[in-house]
Amino acid sequence: MKTALRQAAALLQQSERPLLISHPRPDGDTIGSTLALRLALRELGKDPIIACIHPLGENLAYLPGADQYQETLPDEIDIDLVVVIDMSDLDRTGGLYREEWRDRIPLLVIDHHATNDAFGDVNLVDPTSAATVMPMIELLEALDVKIQDELATCLLVGLLTDTRGLRTQSTSPTVLRTVSSLIEAGGEYVKVMQKTLDSVPYKKMRGWGKALDRLQLNGAVAWTTFPLDEKKALAISDHADLDLGNLLSRVAEANITAAFVEMRDETVKISFRARPGYDVATVAASLGGGGHRLAAGCTLDGSLEAVVDRVLPMLHRAVESAE
Ligand code: 5GP
Ligand code: MN
Repeated sequence: MKTALRQAAALLQQSERPLLISHPRPDGDTIGSTLALRLALRELGKDPIIACIHPLGENLAYLPGADQYQETLPDEIDIDLVVVIDMSDLDRTGGLYREEWRDRIPLLVIDHHATNDAFGDVNLVDPTSAATVMPMIELLEALDVKIQDELATCLLVGLLTDTRGLRTQSTSPTVLRTVSSLIEAGGEYVKVMQKTLDSVPYKKMRGWGKALDRLQLNGAVAWTTFPLDEKKALAISDHADLDLGNLLSRVAEANITAAFVEMRDETVKISFRARPGYDVATVAASLGGGGHRLAAGCTLDGSLEAVVDRVLPMLHRAVESAE
């Protein structure tokens, strides 16, 4: 067994009250992996706490244990292990991680981002995996947990969302075999497709309308913007990114796309997507963010206009350097 896998399993076996953290604006991979681990640890007689600074979208809130998420943690908290899931640096806990834990409580990182800088005491990080779900499955097997039913459904959510419904370059034969075995183990494939992937709230789809109305294409770069006041007008929460990154990724003429979404406090969240052969991880990392070659993101200070002006030339350079 790989060293990191053995060490990760040992940390979880020794722990009684682990804190599991999912990343902000949570996606299906961070949530599915976290909820699967929570179910597994409860089966092993442990008492895990799960936390995420943002609420789950309706398309994830139906999952078992989703109602147990805490958005803030009490000052006094009795935990003996911190597990951060599907994030490439500690900033991605959104402030839930406390520096004072550093020397007292072990930190376990479970992730699949190429930009992960191995910031934990133990790092179960596989950048070749399509989703954090893949190293998570290895870990559950190392813990002798039976993967079935609700737990299998949680894992399916992570795999199906991070591969955008099994259509990304990362959708390998291994991924398809894993999906098959999760279905055989009782995972609800059609339910996940219906409730998580094919369910867009009405106001979010109205938001897509506004965003697509402003869609621009210049050479092989397509982008759009979404100002905060339009979120307010549609009663969409300030932190939402409307999943515009994945929507724009389908523009046929574009090799790189970017969705610029205004957040509170004069910041702009950017979602980058690239077609195979192009690389947005390097751009995102150079701006203080991270991700994968084909899907990455960052958050920058400044107005929408200023951020767009700063970032677009970088995207044109990224297109040129790949050609
Ligand atoms: P999305 O555009 O869907 O928010 O994110 C695409 C990918 O980039 C995901 O794997 C996500 O974890 C990563 N990502 C997005 N924003 C950030 C960021 O600010 N920092 C880091 N390290 N990764 C990010
Ligand atoms: Mn992921």
